[in-house]
Amino acid sequence: MVVMTRAFQIPQQRQLKTELPGPRSIALQQRRVASVSRGAGTLANIYMERGDGAILVDVDGNQLIDLGSGIGVNTIGHAHPDVAAAAAEQASRLTHTLFTVTPYENYVRVAEKLAELTPGDFEKHSILVNSGAEAVENAVKIARKYTGRRAIAALDHAFHGRTNLTMTMTYRPWPERAGMGPFPGEIYSVPTSYPYRDGLSGAEAAARTIDYITTHIGATELAALFVEPVQGDGGVVIPAPGYFEALREFCTENGIVFVADEIQTGMARTGAWYAMEHVGIVPDLVTTAKGIAGGFPLAAVTGRAEIMDAVQPGGIGGTFGGNPVSTAAALAVLDIIERENLNAEAQRVEATLRARIGNWTERFPIVGEVRGIGAMFGIELVHPGTREQNPEALTAVIRYATSHGVIPLDSGSWDSVLRLMPPVVISDELIDDAASVLEEALASVG
Ligand SMILES: *Cc1c(COP(=O)(O)O)cnc(C)c1O
Repeated sequence: MVVMTRAFQIPQQRQLKTELPGPRSIALQQRRVASVSRGAGTLANIYMERGDGAILVDVDGNQLIDLGSGIGVNTIGHAHPDVAAAAAEQASRLTHTLFTVTPYENYVRVAEKLAELTPGDFEKHSILVNSGAEAVENAVKIARKYTGRRAIAALDHAFHGRTNLTMTMTYRPWPERAGMGPFPGEIYSVPTSYPYRDGLSGAEAAARTIDYITTHIGATELAALFVEPVQGDGGVVIPAPGYFEALREFCTENGIVFVADEIQTGMARTGAWYAMEHVGIVPDLVTTAKGIAGGFPLAAVTGRAEIMDAVQPGGIGGTFGGNPVSTAAALAVLDIIERENLNAEAQRVEATLRARIGNWTERFPIVGEVRGIGAMFGIELVHPGTREQNPEALTAVIRYATSHGVIPLDSGSWDSVLRLMPPVVISDELIDDAASVLEEALASVG
């Protein structure tokens, strides 16, 4: 299929002029350790100056291939001129009123678009906030208010954020939680479906989840069940077919709000506006963030009007939420996804990746599984001949890749899943070049 894509200002090629990190990055890194908290850990200390499409240019003039999109944010590619123009135009006219003091149209237009794009054919309302974690927090508050119940369930291996409430819903203790409690009560981690590791069918895994909920929490005590259609930070874990269908039915039968956290999977990432479309599931609430505004801070909770309106006026909101510039950027992004047919582009990336890296399990003994959907892939690294997690190999692969001009992501509860989430406008040639570098990396580790 031929899709019209935009022309890029920076040639879509990897090009190295210095060792990585280069001298200017090294100098910046020295200033950084003297001024920035160590708690903001960094994957690669290569300082970036600009970007275009799937290419990042660092402060030493090196051109690197972006396989991470800043964790699924720059889905439409870096520095789209229409997003820049929309944001600049808005910034020169009005940057803030606070929607809850005096409103403006952009906010309403984004809410209208979200009602149209999220799964489900019913009246939907939205609230706009600044970050994914803030969206999840608001979804918790809204579900509790609507149901009058307190308990919240999140799945094993989930990632929902780093605020006090959301780090509690995030699965692993290290590094997201350790030493930073106390944690709020009535948050439960429940078993999920992880086909490579549990070997269960979707129906079996769902029965296990439901049994855990009924015996540890009580179905009628549960306000909401939070799921990610594909667990991103958890290691690109795609539940077995039928898993979500059974959970959706269980929630409907028991008055539990079914929340799809599509912060990482939404906005063309998986080849659809929302990943739940692939399994035909209609959530009660959906959270959106990362890819919605091309890097400007914006997040949303969208869902059934009667649930979203259960909260008293003033009960949810915030100073910067849905600010005029972020919403202007989001409207441009939504338009670009439609106009440049970026859901189809994500499907092309999936086909190219599958053909290119699908046989890595046969070629590299440390590759246990290659899995993915759209422009979202996970390569689970193991000790050869076993399914034992291999985080040391992941560290080595990432170090090799980043020092050779390719920026992938890490993931997984054991830090053993190489995650690829390039901008969906990445060319097949760039995918091929990046895959060659990753193959050298895997070979050098194996
Ligand atoms: C990134 C992410 C969050 C948190 O978003 P922030 O903007 O970093 O607060 C929550 N849920 C999922 C699924 C995410 O990927």
